[in-house]
Amino acid sequence: MLDHVDFEARSWIPMSGWPVDRNSLLPHYETAAGLLGIEDLQAEWPASAVLPMNGPLFSERCFLSPIPDLGATLRARLQAAKNVQVVLHATALRLDTDTSGRWVRSIEVASTPDRRFRIEARSFVLACGGIENARLLLASNQQMPNGIGNQHDLVGRYFMEHPRVKWGSLQICRPDAAIAFHVPSAEARRPYLSQAKHCDVTAAFGLALRPEIRESERLLGSRTWIKPGPCANDWDGSEALHYLAFWLRKGRLHRDLIKSGRTILRHPAGSIASAIDRIGRSRRWAGHFHFDTILEQEPDPESRVTLDTRLDEFGLPRVKLEWRVGPLVRRTLQRVQTIVTDEMRMLGHRSDVLACAHGTPAYGDDIPYRWVRHHMGTTRMSNDPRTGVVDATCQVHGLANLFVAGSSVFPTGGNDMPTLTIVALAIKLGGHLQQWLE
Ligand SMILES: Cc1cc2nc3c(=O)[nH]c(=O)nc-3n(C[C@H](O)[C@H](O)[C@H](O)COP(=O)(O)OP(=O)(O)OC[C@H]3O[C@@H](n4cnc5c(N)ncnc54)[C@H](O)[C@@H]3O)c2cc1C
Repeated sequence: MLDHVDFEARSWIPMSGWPVDRNSLLPHYETAAGLLGIEDLQAEWPASAVLPMNGPLFSERCFLSPIPDLGATLRARLQAAKNVQVVLHATALRLDTDTSGRWVRSIEVASTPDRRFRIEARSFVLACGGIENARLLLASNQQMPNGIGNQHDLVGRYFMEHPRVKWGSLQICRPDAAIAFHVPSAEARRPYLSQAKHCDVTAAFGLALRPEIRESERLLGSRTWIKPGPCANDWDGSEALHYLAFWLRKGRLHRDLIKSGRTILRHPAGSIASAIDRIGRSRRWAGHFHFDTILEQEPDPESRVTLDTRLDEFGLPRVKLEWRVGPLVRRTLQRVQTIVTDEMRMLGHRSDVLACAHGTPAYGDDIPYRWVRHHMGTTRMSNDPRTGVVDATCQVHGLANLFVAGSSVFPTGGNDMPTLTIVALAIKLGGHLQQWLE
C-alpha cells in the first residue's frame, strides 16, 4: 500500500496531494489483496526484522502476490459471467463523442488494419496502461482538436516513473537478522523464518526513510533494496546474466535476451564471477550485497507523453515520451546514500557509496537512472479540472461516461510497486460504476 503521507499534499512537492486518503482506500486495498492472494495486509512484522527504532530508517514491507497472473485466476469467472464479454485481439483506436464533446458514444476497434468495428456502451473505462491511456485520449481528436479530457492541456503531462539507481556496497561482518530479512531470498531468511509469521518469501522488505525525516528534510519517498550480489566491477555482467536466465526460463525470445547476451560477451569476467557466486550462494549465507534505490519523482509538466508524427500500422500517431527526472530526486538519493551507509556502519557492517554500473559516480550530475516500468501520472487525479484529468472517482472531467483505471491516475507515485493501488482503485471504480449504472 502507499503510505499515508503519499496521499497528502506536501509543501515541498508541487502538485502533490491526492483527492482520496489511505483510510478511504483501505477497504478496497483489502479486497485487492484478497484477489491477489495476499493474506493479511495489516499483519505486524517481527521485532528481529525491524531496524533500531530511534534510527532514520524503517523496514517497509512489500507483498509479492503468489498468484500474479490474473488472466489465469479470473478466466473461468469471466467465461462464466453472463454480463461479461471478453474480446481479444482488439485494439482500441479512438473514442467518439457526441457533438457536445461531453458524452462518449462509441469506441473504434480493430483486430487487423483492415478489420475495424465499433463498440457502443453506456460507459467506458480506459485501462490500457500509463502511456497508452494518454495516447488514446490525445489521438481521439476528431471532435476536440486537443483530444478528449484535455481542455486544460494536462493529458500526457506529469509522466512519472520510479527512477532506480544501483549505488553501494555492503559487507556483513557478523550474522544479522535485520539484514537477513531485507534480502529477497529464502536462503538468507530461512534461519529466522520460524520466528516470523507472514514473513516468508511472499513478503519483501526494503529500507525506507521515516516520514518525519522526509518531512523535516523535504525529501521524496524512496525504498532501498538490499540485494545479494557480486562486487561492483561485476555488476554489468551479473545483471545481464540475471536477465538472460529469466528470459530463457520463460522460453521467450525477448529483445532483453539478445541485449543480455551481448552484455555478457562484453563483460565475460563479471558474468563468470557472478555465475559462480550464484551457484555458491545457494549453499552459504552470502556476505556481499549492493543497494538498489527506487525513488519517487516530483511531478513535472514537461515530463510527458505526446503524439508523434510517425504512424502505427493502424494509421494512428505513435507515442513520443519525454521522461524528465528533477533535482529533488537527486537530493533525495544523496541523503538516502548517506543515511543508509551510516546506518549500516552503526550496525557494525562495512558499507560504501560506489561508482555506478556505467562508470558514472552516483553523486554526479548525470546519474544513470533506470526505470522500473511503472508508468504514472499522465491522466492525473484531482477534483479540480485545472490540475487533474480525472476526479476522485476516476471519471474524466467534463465527460460523464468516461473513466480511467491504472497508475496514469496517480498524482504522485509513492516509493515503489504501484499495482496493489491500481487494483484497489479499479475495485473502487467498479463499485462506483455499479451504482452509476443502476
Ligand atoms: C517486467 C515488469 C515487472 C513488474 N513488476 C512489478 C511488481 O513487482 N510490482 C508492481 O506493483 N508492479 C510491477 N510492474 C508494473 C505493473 O505491471 C503495472 O503497474 C501494471 O501491470 C499496470 O496495470 P494496468 O492494468 O494499468 O496496465 P497493463 O498491465 O499495462 O495493462 C494494460 C493492457 O491494455 C492493453 N492495451 C494497451 N493499449 C491498448 C489498446 N489501444 N487497445 C486494447 N488494449 C490495449 C495492453 O495490451 C495490456 O494488456 C512490473 C512491470 C513490468 C513490465
